[in-house]
Amino acid sequence: VVNYAPFTLLPSAVPRALFEQAYAVQQDFNLLVDAISQNKEFLEKTLASTIKVDDFTARLFRIYMQVLEEGLAQTVFLGINRSDYMFDCGVDGTAALRQIEINTIAASFGGLTSRTADVHRLVLKVLGKTEEASRLLPNNPAKGLALGIAKAWELYGSQRAVVMFLVEDVQRNIFDQRCVEIELWNRNIRVVRKRFRDVFEQGSLDASRRLFMDGQEVAVVYYREGYVPQVYDQQNWEARLLLERSRAVKCPDIATQLAGTKKVQQELSRPGTLEKLLPGHPEASARIRATFAGLYSLDEGEEGDRIAATAIADPDRFVLKPQREGGGNNLYGEELKEVLEKIKDSPERTSYILMDKIKPQPALNYLLRAHSPLQMSECISELGIFGVYVRQGRELVLNQAAGHLLRTKAIEHADGGVAAGVAVLDTPYLV
Ligand code: ADP
Ligand code: MG
Repeated sequence: VVNYAPFTLLPSAVPRALFEQAYAVQQDFNLLVDAISQNKEFLEKTLASTIKVDDFTARLFRIYMQVLEEGLAQTVFLGINRSDYMFDCGVDGTAALRQIEINTIAASFGGLTSRTADVHRLVLKVLGKTEEASRLLPNNPAKGLALGIAKAWELYGSQRAVVMFLVEDVQRNIFDQRCVEIELWNRNIRVVRKRFRDVFEQGSLDASRRLFMDGQEVAVVYYREGYVPQVYDQQNWEARLLLERSRAVKCPDIATQLAGTKKVQQELSRPGTLEKLLPGHPEASARIRATFAGLYSLDEGEEGDRIAATAIADPDRFVLKPQREGGGNNLYGEELKEVLEKIKDSPERTSYILMDKIKPQPALNYLLRAHSPLQMSECISELGIFGVYVRQGRELVLNQAAGHLLRTKAIEHADGGVAAGVAVLDTPYLV
């Protein structure tokens, strides 16, 4: 079945200053994620309580440790991330940029959103808004993501080797991926699409741990899968381990995936942590910190007891987040209260973090979704900035912001992205 990707009828207003702030901090976030991924001590300490109770994170962490013990064969590192924000509306009506999360694995919609500005430009023209149409910014994350993949492929240094997109069994978002793929073919780089099961069946390493799929060498593994527990049976875990042990450039490597956990995000907000992770970059730390919302640890102890009690008393102030990706996992309001009451005295509590709930100013728009009735909705938007970086050994050879994504949803949905069927693609109209 082929459906069009859902989108808003009209572009949504975005404060120019916040949009520019989000772009300006992206290289700092790239630097930070890359630094965390190389800091074993920090990851170990930060995730210690989480991996005691969260099996999925624990399993990823075990692979991470196993690969480190053997010694890394990989020498070129490629990060593609997307830092997501909402515009928090203060009591005086001014909006502030607040990071929701940073996605360090399978950050999607950079492909499809390379087309959305064209759609909205046309809509505005049809409505006679030619002047407004001309103000929509060009945006092509697909090109930026492909540039990073191409750079990593080149540094890997084998003309014959391919780029492997690691994709889902049921490929619901194939056209988004194709936009990036086509940019690579245009650069004469071969792309193959494989599933974990294919890797289990066809993958092998040679003596220097070069990765081969049925005899074809793989330079770069670009994960568009692998971030939810349900994907992994025993064979797929083995496939994941094989990939991580290999010399191929993983986007991301397992350390970088762990750097994107909600627990890491929460620990970053502690005073002094950013500064320690980014020594010599005090301005970068300050720019990053300025985007943080309140984040709270639920680890066992007094600090966790206190914030758990506060959240139970006033659940609408918070979001309760487990270590999961992909939308639909967070808890709000009454449900937050119920769950927290149930787990507040058990170690299970430490598999979650608490975050201040961001409250943006809603605006009216039409959400267009295949097979859904068309109706005007009160909506809020989430801005994502794509980041791309490449490191060779210890040297960062590429560090860029690669474009943006605006997703908009009706206010009755607390949670969920485009893939979850809640948000739709949008274009920022800067005001
Ligand atoms: P996931 O990894 O599942 O995407 P997110 O942290 O991005 O997890 O949360 C999913 C969605 O929930 C977001 O896209 C946003 O709509 C909503 N959300 C998350 N955190 C907050 C928050 N602090 N305040 C308001 N809404 C939030
Ligand atoms: Mg998200």
